[in-house]
Amino acid sequence: MLELFAKANLPTMAGNFVIYVFKNDENKDHAVIVKGDVKGRQDIPVRIHSECLTGDVLGSRRCDCRDQLIKSLVYLGKQDYGMLIYLRQEGRGIGLLNKIKAYSLQDQGYDTVEANVQLGLPIDQREYSFAVDVLKYFGINSIKLMTNNPAKIDFLAKANITVSERIPIRSEPTEYDEFYLSTKKIRMGHQL
Ligand SMILES: [Zn+2]
Repeated sequence: MLELFAKANLPTMAGNFVIYVFKNDENKDHAVIVKGDVKGRQDIPVRIHSECLTGDVLGSRRCDCRDQLIKSLVYLGKQDYGMLIYLRQEGRGIGLLNKIKAYSLQDQGYDTVEANVQLGLPIDQREYSFAVDVLKYFGINSIKLMTNNPAKIDFLAKANITVSERIPIRSEPTEYDEFYLSTKKIRMGHQL
């Protein structure tokens, strides 16, 4: 079960939010950044973002995570209500070390899917049950999901969260992440 550990105001470059920190059974602390009083409010925009140290923090051009994170925050900052659920699952859930090992294979010419297979890792072991718990905590069962990833919509539907609308996040490919983005599109069904 989800337990709220702390909450505080969080003014950001994209506007004023409230940050909540929850812990789940795995004892990882996940952050939820909330705009407005969302309790029981339906069809609000929600971004479910998986942690990416290299992208989110360091501005890596190997992926588009930072771009998606910033665009989501800027969008949410302009809304009356909304939420960004920040999941602590680095590198599609494989952890930082394995992610960098996979990057190393990609430097040798493997694509992101082949690299994970080479390392004996699942292609995508992200899971979103924490996000479902958060939405239920706030009494929300219908959202406008900010995503390019149809798998997230399926996962939420199975957990009885209705995605009433998909808000696409467009990002311009750079010379470094073009290959990564086209792999996501072709091999993982992302809608870019
Ligand atoms: Zn990333």
